[in-house]
Amino acid sequence: MCLFCKIVAGEIPSTKVYEDETILAFRDIAPMAPTHILVIPKTHIPSVDGITAENSAVVAHIFETIPAIAAQEGLTGGYRVVSNCGDDAGQTVHHLHFHILGGKKLNVEMA
Ligand code: AMP
Ligand code: ZN
Repeated sequence: MCLFCKIVAGEIPSTKVYEDETILAFRDIAPMAPTHILVIPKTHIPSVDGITAENSAVVAHIFETIPAIAAQEGLTGGYRVVSNCGDDAGQTVHHLHFHILGGKKLNVEMA
């Protein structure tokens, strides 16, 4: 089982900020901004590269939920949503996740 599947299963602790039947959001263990949350599907999808017509409903649900999570976190000044896909992007956990970063003026570099 991958690290994030273990978090979903409760085998590794996490600081949850949102959970429902299909997705989970928790605080990043090494925050890169004052607010740094990871949103994941409970099902194992390896990365953005693994999104298909069959599993994309959960991705839509993640994006439908992100505004509520941002509001709950008080990110009224805006925020960034990032997903690293594969080696060149520096993906370290191979379970699809979307970073929500905010709480300060973020750096503008995209690459
Ligand atoms: P990425 O580099 O895009 O694959 O992002 C993986 C993220 O998972 C990193 O920002 C890590 O800090 C974070 N991370 C790794 N282990 C944990 C954990 N046990 N709990 C919360 N976040 C974690
Ligand atoms: Zn997994």
